[in-house]
Formats: sequence, structure tokens, C-alpha cells
Amino acid sequence: MKIPVLDRQFVQEHLDMRACIDVMEHTLRQESGGVCGQSLRTAVPLPNGNIFGLMPAWLQDCFGVKALSIYHGNGELGLPSHQGQILLFSLEHGEPIAAVDADTVTQIRTAAVSAAASKALANPDAKSLAVLGCGAQGLSHVKALLAQFPLENITLWDRTRMKAECLAAMQPADVSVRVCETVREAVADADIICTVTAAQDPILEREWVKPGAHINAVGACSPKARELSGPLVAASSFYGDNLESVLHESGDYLIPLGEGLIAKSHLRGTIGQVLNRTVAGRQRRDEITVFESLGMAVEDIAAAKYLYDVWCGKLRKSGGKI
Ligand code: NDP
Repeated sequence: MKIPVLDRQFVQEHLDMRACIDVMEHTLRQESGGVCGQSLRTAVPLPNGNIFGLMPAWLQDCFGVKALSIYHGNGELGLPSHQGQILLFSLEHGEPIAAVDADTVTQIRTAAVSAAASKALANPDAKSLAVLGCGAQGLSHVKALLAQFPLENITLWDRTRMKAECLAAMQPADVSVRVCETVREAVADADIICTVTAAQDPILEREWVKPGAHINAVGACSPKARELSGPLVAASSFYGDNLESVLHESGDYLIPLGEGLIAKSHLRGTIGQVLNRTVAGRQRRDEITVFESLGMAVEDIAAAKYLYDVWCGKLRKSGGKI
């Protein structure tokens, strides 16, 4: 059976950030309402110390799996750290219908989810963004937050300053962009902070974050890794993308829980629940909110299905000639 292979170029051309934020918001609502679902991801350790990840999920009319390799050393070689494919199946008869480039979908959908979470939890007049980590996710997060908020100031930090400078040079002229030497300097005035590093130990401290800030904690996705300090997590109103994932995979939550800094009930709920108004979001302007993003398979399958529908539309328009 021949299926379309929607490659990196197709995804870059057709998964517009604004459209992806809307698809993700809809998917987060549906996941929280039980209309779509997923199994916890499987991380297969490879003999060379890298990881092979498998993330299965189902939506109302399709299901699929994202299979990808995670090679953190690839950055030094100029290669992507996440590479793989999303294999999409029809729910009706169970046949495979498309293979979609997972690396590009992951880059775009992760930032789109952070934008949707920021819309739900940040103060609505947020004007300043700090991005900590200027790799693939750093770039994507700047794009997503610019698509969601009328930002006036962006501060960038990376432990390799040149990467922050490259990202700064790519930004539109009507936004003030500053590269910072320290995390503290970068977040001092930030209304929204995105932590998108592969750090294993905290890079962000409680006393550096201004009252009312919203944090998207995206980079640490395993029980032993974290980007946020325990006191910062303890001082925040803490939400996740999926309750089961946070309870099993989030070092930002599990490490302070193990240290007795927070109770299990510190996890207030999911962004989907906030969007569906079954859990309360921000209550005060000066509250620090955290969205703990671990990445959900439903996000990948929903983005892949959106792209497959775009491809089907193009096929119809072209009379079957693409
Ligand atoms: P990249 O390899 O493109 O970038 C990695 C970034 O992390 C670089 O800025 C790098 O800095 C920085 N970094 C690595 N180690 C450290 C450290 N010890 N301290 C501070 N900074 C560090 O990866 P991506 O941008 O694709 O991914 C970033 C993180 O986000 C990863 O941990 C990844 O697993 C996670 N992720 C999470 C997803 C989710 O759904 N929640 C989805 C996709 C990714 P330098 O420039 O100096 O190398």
C-alpha cells in the first residue's frame, strides 16, 4: 500500500503556527474531556546512551504513533536532536494513511501548546518574553509567543551566547530583542518565561522571577531532570499537560515532592481542564503560574491529522496529480 510521506518541507510550508495553536487548544480540550487519549510514552534506552521514544495516541477518526530518536549530542554535529516519523492510521478500517516528519511537527506543536497554555494562564496584557535556551525549541517558542501576544520586548539567554545572538538576529525589527549574559538578567522583567533547555539541574530560581510571571517549563521531560528550582515550584500555581505524565515523568514536580517542598496536591490540574473550566486558572495578577510541558502523543497525532487533511485537500484540487 502506498501512503503519502509528508516531509520536513511539507510540514514547514503547511503547519502555520497560528493554525497549530488553534489545533492544539482544541486537542487539549478534547484530551481533558476524554474525547481522545494516549498511553504513557515508552522510552527505550539504546546501547549508545541515547533514547528511542514511542508515543501512541488516538483521536475520534484516526490513531497513530510517533517514533523518534533523541540524541542530545547531535547539536554539536549540526544535526537535529529529535528525529523520526509519525505514522497515522484510519480509525475506521485500521489502515495506515500517512507518514509525517516528526522532528518538524514536534518543534512546532510544542511551542504552539506553550502559546495556548500562556493564553490560558498568563496575565492577558503580557508584553515581555524571556526565552532560556536558543536551540530548535527556543526559535519555535519565540515564533509561537509572538503569534499569540503583542510582545514589545524579548530577552534571550543561552549558555552558548552565539546561539542567542543568531536567534536575536532573526527577529522582526518592531520588537526590542536583547541577548543576556545571565538567566537572572533575562527574566528580571519577563511576563512570560519559556525554559527550553536540555539542562538536568535547575537554571531558574524563585527570587529572579517577578510576581505575576507565567512560566512554560518545556525542556526537562524525565523524573531526574529539572529546569526550575524547588522553591520556585513551591511558590507557583502548578499545572501540567497530562496528570499521569506529570506524576511519572516530571522532575520539576517529582524532585521537590521527594524533598518535601510540595505536597501531591500542588499539581492543580491540566491546561485542558483550565480551558474547559473544570479547574480554576490564575486567580491573582501577582500569582506565578507554571505550565509543565512533557509533550503528549495526542498533540502529535492531531498535528499529523491536520497535515493529512491539508494534503487530501491539495490532492482533490489537483485532480489527483500531486
Ligand atoms: P536543541 O538540541 O536544539 O537545544 C538544546 C538547548 O539546551 C540548547 O540551547 C543548549 O544550549 C541547551 N542546553 C543543553 N544542556 C544545557 C545545560 N546543562 N544547561 C543549560 N542549557 C543547556 O534541543 P530542542 O530545542 O529541540 O529541545 C530543548 C529541550 O526541550 C530538550 O531537553 C528536549 O528534550 C525538550 N523538548 C520537550 C518537548 C515537550 O513536548 N515538552 C518537545 C521537544 C523537546 P547550547 O546552545 O549551549 O548547546
